Amino acid sequence: MNADDLRYRNDLEQANALSEEREVKRVTEWLDKQEAEGSTGLRRQLLATSVRLSRKMAPDIYKLSDECVERLSMDTPLELYVFNSAQFNAMCFKPEEGRVFVMFSSSLLEGFTPKELQFVMGHEFGHHIYNHHEIPIGYLVKGRQRPDPKLALRLFAWSRNAEISADRAGAYCANDMHSVASALFKLSSGLTGDIVKFNLDEFLKQVSDMEMIDSEPDKDAPQGDWFSTHPFSPLRVKALQLFFGSNLMDEKGTSVDDMDVGVQRLMSLMEPSYLDARSDAAIAMRNLLFAGGLVVADASNGITEAEIEVFEQFFEKGDVSDKLNVNRIREELPQRIQRAKEQATETQCMQVMRDICVIAMAEGDVTVEERNVLNSIADGLGISRTFICQTIEQDCEPD
Ligand SMILES: [Zn+2]
Repeated sequence: MNADDLRYRNDLEQANALSEEREVKRVTEWLDKQEAEGSTGLRRQLLATSVRLSRKMAPDIYKLSDECVERLSMDTPLELYVFNSAQFNAMCFKPEEGRVFVMFSSSLLEGFTPKELQFVMGHEFGHHIYNHHEIPIGYLVKGRQRPDPKLALRLFAWSRNAEISADRAGAYCANDMHSVASALFKLSSGLTGDIVKFNLDEFLKQVSDMEMIDSEPDKDAPQGDWFSTHPFSPLRVKALQLFFGSNLMDEKGTSVDDMDVGVQRLMSLMEPSYLDARSDAAIAMRNLLFAGGLVVADASNGITEAEIEVFEQFFEKGDVSDKLNVNRIREELPQRIQRAKEQATETQCMQVMRDICVIAMAEGDVTVEERNVLNSIADGLGISRTFICQTIEQDCEPD
């Protein structure tokens, strides 16, 4: 099996399309130039802040990583590091001087079983073999020149699909569904002890609840907090279950096409597909995204002509009145919130809220004034304010 065969095709297609974008090319060329002028000093920095794991020091960890390297046919030399943190975390950096650097938090190395660790290792290696670092999402979203809102939303949607590919590489290394799921549970809950027993069926039931709520908008939704408490991981577990049931992992399994139809359906719960749809709900969501994004942009320093132009390009003609009037849009915001709440499901409202946050982040650090606007939109939609924190504090770099 070639590791490339495992890659989620939406990740590949979107990565290819994004790398053709003028703005992405510009930032990539700039970074290449920086690199050519001398290494970025990453290795020196890692050596200063983290402990490099030698084979002598950590033979068991190297044994696990050697198995992953072989399974994925990786040929770039590897250096593993550990850093002191109580938070479970791992990350992989763009190779420098022909070496791949992978870091693990101390708690993760101690709290995860060997197979769970192999899932995490394989996941990080997956980011490397699929060249996910070639699209510098961190620089694009947090750089000095902000991408337009649509590009920011596309970058975030792609990064979620990239996680699906990395998960498959990890699952291929661990080769055990239960370990993979419990690793994702540990990562999202922070729990490793016996006080909470992980149960795969229960975890997956959360996804079924999400799908049900979404397909029956009229039904009174239970106070669903799945999006905010576990933003993404039940979906990832479900996508991995489909992966284990496919012929990539099981000769008698379903075809890759069938698996991907299932994965796309899952991911659509996270995707801003309302940007192009024609339904009443989609129009209400777009109108709220437009107004919310604009009022947030105006909140701290006022909105400039150039920023208004970006918004006009982003939204179709017709969504924008002939003369943009921020004051009027601010006055209309409560009605638009109300309309979205009436027309869209709870999941969809959370999507819009997340996307308004993404637009706010793409305009630079979120200020107190901007945060106040975000809070009032969340309150109006009946979404917990912690959801905003999670969205704007999440790191946009793949890890
Ligand atoms: Zn990742």
